[in-house]
Amino acid sequence: MIDNRKLEKALVDGQGPQKTKSKGVECRDCNKFMLDPKTTSCDKPYIEINGTEYKRNTTYFDVNKRCHDCGILNKKGNVHHLGCDMEICPACKDQLIGCDCEKSNEPY
Ligand SMILES: [Zn+2]
Ligand SMILES: [Zn+2]
Ligand SMILES: [Zn+2]
Repeated sequence: MIDNRKLEKALVDGQGPQKTKSKGVECRDCNKFMLDPKTTSCDKPYIEINGTEYKRNTTYFDVNKRCHDCGILNKKGNVHHLGCDMEICPACKDQLIGCDCEKSNEPY
């Protein structure tokens, strides 16, 4: 799953040898590090809400920019990491982490 050599090289190239807190938080959905420049999207394009599977919102206003919160590349087809405050709930169109819908994978 994780290529350790690549990871180590990235750490050396990046912010030094500290293994903790160099890449921020690990996404609980895809186990990739948020804010890792090599990660452009989360791996989970669907989310279950109120018992129905929805396609997650992949429409972005500022296309080709990085999400300020979870670091993915804003591009059609790319998905925010779980718990990102920019993700829109596909069921109620509200902020996903703030809405009252019942999600199968709660961010927190
Ligand atoms: Zn995001
Ligand atoms: Zn993710
Ligand atoms: Zn909702």
